[in-house]
Amino acid sequence: MIELVGVRKSFGKLEVLKDITLGVAKGSVVALIGPSGSGKSTLLRSINLLTVPDQGFIRVGEQALDFTGGHRLPGDRELAAFRARTGMVFQNFNLFPHMSVEENVMSGPVTVLRMPKAEARLLAHGLLAKVGLADKAAAQPDKLSGGQRQRVAIARALAMKPEVMLFDEATSALDPELVGEVLAVIRSLAAEGMTMLLVTHEMAFARDVADRVVFMRDGCVVEEGPARQMIEAPSQPATRAFLSHFH
Ligand code: ATP
Ligand code: MG
Repeated sequence: MIELVGVRKSFGKLEVLKDITLGVAKGSVVALIGPSGSGKSTLLRSINLLTVPDQGFIRVGEQALDFTGGHRLPGDRELAAFRARTGMVFQNFNLFPHMSVEENVMSGPVTVLRMPKAEARLLAHGLLAKVGLADKAAAQPDKLSGGQRQRVAIARALAMKPEVMLFDEATSALDPELVGEVLAVIRSLAAEGMTMLLVTHEMAFARDVADRVVFMRDGCVVEEGPARQMIEAPSQPATRAFLSHFH
């Protein structure tokens, strides 16, 4: 469902992604782990072109973009179509503060997909129920806990009917007691067969929910493999050293 081949990205002289090749099979969950600055966010952002790669090939579903042979900026329509294939959830729940929860979830379908409001409202209510927030539709985001806001952010991303979901440390900014409710939503999406790539520092979650784990360091994929094996018995010393910080 997601395929990256030879993806490279530099910021000035700093090479942040060095020839990344990676796949996420349809219906599978891949956890991306690695130290701070290893390029995890840049990799995720490259998949929906918030960051445009310098080199490489990226496919999401049926649509592929080829950056080999130099910098190529896709046209606006191609870019929009490509981005619409992915839903992204960030560390800091960036909801629209002036809109209610329901309006936050409806806004993409109404403005981008031109969905009639009544239909979008129905869709929003269904998704809010799915993330356990059916009773918060009319609330303003500032009245919600961090965990609730993050669940609204997930509902909002799902409203665009993405083929894949990308999570960048979706629980890192939350108080510890709120982490579980967000992970539970991600877990239920996994059970439904949603294709997901998630950057996480929750190693137990990666082991239990992901199918595969990818370890990055210094812009490279050092090692990847089945989740349990990667978390409990990685073969590379660098992976073992990184994981030792979590025990
Ligand atoms: P963390 O775990 O701290 O979130 P990360 O693995 O997500 O780290 P990235 O955010 O991808 O790492 O950053 C990788 C490197 O690229 C870092 O050295 C960072 O400072 C640099 N970097 C990221 N975005 C930019 C940018 N827009 N301009 C310049 N440098 C950048
Ligand atoms: Mg990051």
